[in-house]
Amino acid sequence: MELSYQSIKTANQAREADEMRTESRRRNLLILIFHHLMEAGYMDAASALEQETNVVLRQFEVCDNIDLDTVLMEYESYYFIKFQRYPKLTKKLPQPVESRHARSCGKKRAPCTGVQPLPRINSSHRPFSRGGVKKIEPKMVVKDASKAVGENGGRSSPPEPTEFGLNVSPIIRNDAGEGGGQMKKGQLIDYRGLIQDASNSLSDPMERLLKPLSAFSGMNSEMRDLAAVISRDIYLHNPAVRWDDIIGLQAAKRLVKEAVVYPVKYPQLFTGILSPWKGLLLYGPPGTGKTLLAKAVATECNTTFFNISASSIVSKWRGDSEKLVRVLFELARYHAPSTIFLDELESVMSQRGTGGGGEHEGSRRMKTELLVQMDGLARSDDVVFVLAASNLPWELDHAMLRRLEKRILVGLPSGPARQAMVSHWLPPLSCTGGVELRTELAYETLAQATEGYSGSDIRLVCKETAMRPVRKIFDALESHQQGKETAMRPVRKIFDALESHQQGKETAMRPVRKIFDALESHQQGKETAMRPVRKIFDALESHQQGKETAMRPVRKIFDALESHQQESCKMPVIHLETVTTEDFLEVIAHTKPSARNLTDKYTAWEREYESV
Ligand code: ADP
Repeated sequence: MELSYQSIKTANQAREADEMRTESRRRNLLILIFHHLMEAGYMDAASALEQETNVVLRQFEVCDNIDLDTVLMEYESYYFIKFQRYPKLTKKLPQPVESRHARSCGKKRAPCTGVQPLPRINSSHRPFSRGGVKKIEPKMVVKDASKAVGENGGRSSPPEPTEFGLNVSPIIRNDAGEGGGQMKKGQLIDYRGLIQDASNSLSDPMERLLKPLSAFSGMNSEMRDLAAVISRDIYLHNPAVRWDDIIGLQAAKRLVKEAVVYPVKYPQLFTGILSPWKGLLLYGPPGTGKTLLAKAVATECNTTFFNISASSIVSKWRGDSEKLVRVLFELARYHAPSTIFLDELESVMSQRGTGGGGEHEGSRRMKTELLVQMDGLARSDDVVFVLAASNLPWELDHAMLRRLEKRILVGLPSGPARQAMVSHWLPPLSCTGGVELRTELAYETLAQATEGYSGSDIRLVCKETAMRPVRKIFDALESHQQGKETAMRPVRKIFDALESHQQGKETAMRPVRKIFDALESHQQGKETAMRPVRKIFDALESHQQGKETAMRPVRKIFDALESHQQESCKMPVIHLETVTTEDFLEVIAHTKPSARNLTDKYTAWEREYESV
């Protein structure tokens, strides 16, 4: 009696202790989050957290050497030592079904090869636990993983990226039985794989994570508003322009890489007299690829990229331009390493005192501020770089030119570059969005015929040439009043193509529709109608105990969906009439190059202000 009383009391004490530990873990987690938010400058979010939890979190502080960063880092090292790879902690949510369908419409898909689209769950990769079947809750994964390792002396299988929730769980029993999880002495680490892993996760189409503005210190509310305005000009998305996308301009590419990209990539080489340049000017005729070069910089070096169109600064903020410039540079330092791209520089930095004495006082002040800020950059070690572009370099203020230490002429494309452009934009065969265009062009002749044209001129000519056969279809569509039957023929082909696509879709949709029917009809006999659906759930649930068998009905659904996709791929292509050299030459006859007359002026200016 005494003994059983004692055991009840002990059990109760143990339960109470356990509850207290859970409670204190919860509170610690909140304090860690609060501390992390404050450290990272998310002040508003931190206050909101405090308000919502009703706990005065700022009364607590975290102990030495503890914060969320450290906890996460230690977990990563633990995982790395166990499994020789870093854990994947987050993943993007799958897109909603409709948008997936919407996206698949226009795009050409890779032909389906019969590979199962299901998350492959190899039975040997299945998480084991002593109790046999055990479902792993995403929340418990970390705990379970460590437990399983402890129990089994386990070794990881490579985590399947598409499996359940957080991908830290797949632990299997180590059949070899020799603590295989531990890194062996002298074992090589696959750094290349690690880098690839990391870059894969970076190349996710994720928005750039900027530091919060609330931690932008020393700012009054007016300045903070201006900072918010400028922040809108920061590229959050990678503009996805690679060096190889820029045709020709080899010298300009090399110089830009040397001046902007390499100092960020290999800072140890750029010290002393080799200290990185602070300002670079790209000048040349319009449409030659200056903006493209800047976008390549934004894509290739992972700096914060401020895309500032100078004219917008002037027009929007006439009065405040000077403050705006100051905040721009301060923000760039705050988000360093940064690149400030000032497009159309001549519209803000025209020579002071010109323009018949009517220069706006605010504009003069802004120019001075820009010069002061550039000087500030030159004196500091901040990794902030100014990249400017101008079509009219002779209009630029000389003081500004002096600060743009490197000046690179982005000239009109050379013969081979023009040839490469034409064959890039009008290849012998191109097929996009279900429209096939063939060309028979004498590229060399066309390269000669386009002398004096800029890259953007050539692109326009190519577009116009490609429009010709399309225009014929429009003509047919429009002229149906005067001979409907004949004229409608090409149009009808398009309708036929669309119709047959519908039919294919109809057949493929049948099995899928059955499921919808089952789901729909649950009002009139829920129990019966729910059965097939329940089978799916059962299949999903029971995947631990014989996945291969249980997954069959689910796989049928995926097959139906996939074969529907395949049908979509079969949509007949619309063949446009072949484009010939004559078409191209005719277009050229009506399209004049936009900057031919200025070529001499650029070369003259280059002679005077050259700096490469
Ligand atoms: P700008 O020199 O006026 O800044 P852009 O860089 O904006 O000219 O070029 C305008 C367009 O012309 C680009 O979007 C691109 O399509 C085309 N283009 C110009 N030069 C090139 C080039 N060298 N390679 C590829 N495309 C080019």
